[in-house]
Amino acid sequence: MTAADKPIRIGVLAMQGAFREHCRMLEQLGCECTQVRKPTDLEDLDGLVIPGGESTTIGKLMDKYDLFAAISRKLAARMPVFGTCAGLILLAKEIAGSEQPRLGVMDIKVQRNGYGRQVDSFEADLAAPVFGDTPFRAVFIRAPFIEAVGAGVEVLAEWAGRPVMARQENMLVCAFHPELTDDSRIHNYFLQMVREARD
Ligand code: GLN
Repeated sequence: MTAADKPIRIGVLAMQGAFREHCRMLEQLGCECTQVRKPTDLEDLDGLVIPGGESTTIGKLMDKYDLFAAISRKLAARMPVFGTCAGLILLAKEIAGSEQPRLGVMDIKVQRNGYGRQVDSFEADLAAPVFGDTPFRAVFIRAPFIEAVGAGVEVLAEWAGRPVMARQENMLVCAFHPELTDDSRIHNYFLQMVREARD
């Protein structure tokens, strides 16, 4: 079996939030999935997903289970990571008005619950070159928005003039929940990043 035939193994941080939905989608795409709850779960992974949920709760649990240093080491070694919603918040260098624990590795500034309390959740059709001819139906749930991006960050999709999907080297983030739809295009995009990093 060559490296290219070996199934891709993705870890999904399983502290709280929508980790099962990510696993389901990744397994449908032929990946092996590990629910990450402790540092040793990070061994032999090709990539990591940080799901949506409540970023302060996920951060507290990451601290409790000693995952901050272990994940930081993997990201510094350029393991591909995909953060959705709360996962995006945990990867951001700057969170407006908050000093909550975070990985703080991606050069973005985010605003939690950026769309306000009135509009708790909504769906939007995102059109962007990364999606080809068919817009992506995005589910936003108490979503953050990206307020500012650094020079090394590529904005892949916007909604209402704000970046909602972006990439910086080995890091991919989106403010919405692609794992709650049947559309696997964004997970496939991430798996392409993982293949490129692995091969
Ligand atoms: N509002 C949540 C937070 O601040 C994120 C919501 C989500 O992940 N759907 O962490």
